[in-house]
Formats: sequence, structure tokens, C-alpha cells
Amino acid sequence: MQLLDGKKIAAAIKAEIAEEVKLLKSRGKKIPHLAAVLVGDDGASQTYVASKVKSCEEVGFKSTLVRLKKDITENELITQINLLNNDDSVDGFIVQLPLPKHINEERILLAVAPEKDVDGFHPMNVGRMTLNLPTYLPATPKGILEILKRYNIETEGKHCVVIGRSNIVGLPMSILMARKDKIGNCTVTLCHSKTKNLKEETLRADIIIAALGKQEFLKADMVKKGVVVIDVGITRIEDKTKKSGYKLLGDVAFDEVSKKCSYITPVPGGVGLMTVASLLQNTLSAAKEEFYKKTLSFSVDEL
Ligand code: NAD
Repeated sequence: MQLLDGKKIAAAIKAEIAEEVKLLKSRGKKIPHLAAVLVGDDGASQTYVASKVKSCEEVGFKSTLVRLKKDITENELITQINLLNNDDSVDGFIVQLPLPKHINEERILLAVAPEKDVDGFHPMNVGRMTLNLPTYLPATPKGILEILKRYNIETEGKHCVVIGRSNIVGLPMSILMARKDKIGNCTVTLCHSKTKNLKEETLRADIIIAALGKQEFLKADMVKKGVVVIDVGITRIEDKTKKSGYKLLGDVAFDEVSKKCSYITPVPGGVGLMTVASLLQNTLSAAKEEFYKKTLSFSVDEL
């Protein structure tokens, strides 16, 4: 069994981006600028946003954190988003999810200008991803593709089982693994909470991507020998022996499953760190206008 070291790959990606930023600076070009919108004071969201801002600093990007009160109205939030859409100094931005319950997430995601949607959540970018057109890929699936690529894992013709169909991980992952692409060309089965006989599906899988958010759900008797396992799940469990007061568990019972794997990602140290690295890659693409020219800004009222 070989461990897929997300920490190592994320560090390599950050180093590559930092080099490119140095080059841009030396040529007098604009430094990439990521903005993050954080609504309210949810602890986990604050941690995620803080790590994104810190990563920007590490690679030499400019970053801006827009903090908004949890009782902001949907229209006020859209006004803030439009300011970012029309701010030429900002290359890309994210709206940290989840949003407070009184705000319609779909309307907010639609308000983000597609050319600045470095999370890849806007329906236009989801469509472009589905059609294999150049675009921002959602960060976690993009990070998983990068792990598979950098470890030279053969995917063509393999049977890939994705567990979980969320818009940010499972669903796009299933599309990407089926695409006609270097990392792709799999026969994909997308499993979810209504799937019958999940074990029958996972036992047939050459590659399993577990993204359901249930700690240690995938057990050794559910996988065949030689399988590649990508564990996306992150569940915080209280652990008084840790300085932080908690430990992180994945969706895979690592100790037993890893014995049957050819490759497996650990939690922590696997997919999680790749997510931020992918967001940085998307921001660099936005700054370089790789997918869109910055002339498409529009207001959500025009939709
Ligand atoms: P979600 O909570 O939005 O959806 C979970 C999905 O799992 C649903 O589609 C549901 O149908 C499916 N599911 C639930 N129980 C199931 C069962 N018993 N059998 C089969 N399918 C089942 O999921 P999400 O937002 O994609 O998050 C999934 C996990 O990934 C969470 O632990 C989350 O914290 C983690 N996550 C990690 C990263 C990262 O950077 N590593 C990023 C996003 C999410």
C-alpha cells in the first residue's frame, strides 16, 4: 500500500505558484488577488477562510477578507457581491458556505460573475466542466484529480465508485472521472443515501472516492484487494489528548481498509490540504484570464 500524500503535493503546488508570482512581479505584472466573503461567525467557516487567506500570503497573492454580519439581507449580500464583480483589482472571489438559513444559496452563487467564480460553483462553470470546456473546477474534485495525476494512477477503463452526490464534491467528481480526459475515462457509479446494496457496488470498484461525511463508514469487507481509495470525509471528534481538543476522522476505516489498498489518502494529510491548493491554482488562472476575458461582469438582475 502506498500513501497518497496530499500534504506533499499541496506544498509542491504552492511552491510552483509562488515561483510564478515571483516571475509576474519581476515582469511588473499584476499580482493575483483573491477575495473571500464570510457571512456570520460560524467557527468552522472562520477556520477555513483563515487558512485560505494564510495560503494566499504564503504564495505572494493579495487577499481581502470581506466580513459581513450574520443578519445581512440577501439583497445586501448581492450588493456586496456586485461590488466584487465590478472591482477590477479582484481576480477571483469565494463566498464561504454554508450561508445563514435566511439566505438563498443558489441565488448567491448565481450572483457571482462566472469569470471570478474561482470556486467553480456557478452553473455556467458547472456546465463548462460537464462539457469538458476550459473552466474553474471545484476545488476539492480538482485536488483529487491532481493527486491521481501526480501519482500516475491509471484511471482509463477503471470502474470508479463515488459515494455522495453533493454539488461541491460527489456530483462533480463523478462527472470528472467519466470525462474523456487523461485523468478520467472511467466507468462511474455514483452512490448516495438511496443506493441499495452499496457494498455490492464498492466491491466492484477499482477506485473509490468516499465523500458522504460519515466517519469510518467504508470498511475492509466493502472493498476488493488492490483498490485505490480517496477519502474526502472530515468529521471532528472530541479528543482530550489533542491540544486542539479534537481529532479528524475520514469516511474510511483507515487501519483495516488500507491493508487491502494499492493507494489510499490519509485523513488528515490527504484531500483536505489539496482543496486550498486548487483554489490558489484557480485564482492564478483567473489572474491570467485563462478561461474568460474580464469583460463579462453582469448584475444578477440581468439574469
Ligand atoms: P454532503 O453532506 O452535502 O452530502 C453527503 C452525501 O452523502 C449526500 O449526497 C448523501 O446522499 C450521501 N450519503 C449520506 N449517507 C450515505 C450513505 N449511508 N450511503 C451512501 N451515501 C450517503 O457532503 P459534502 O459536502 O460533499 O461532504 C462530504 C464529506 O466531505 C464531509 O465529511 C465534509 O466535511 C467533507 N469535505 C471535505 C472537503 C475537503 O477539503 N477535504 C471538502 C468538502 C467536504
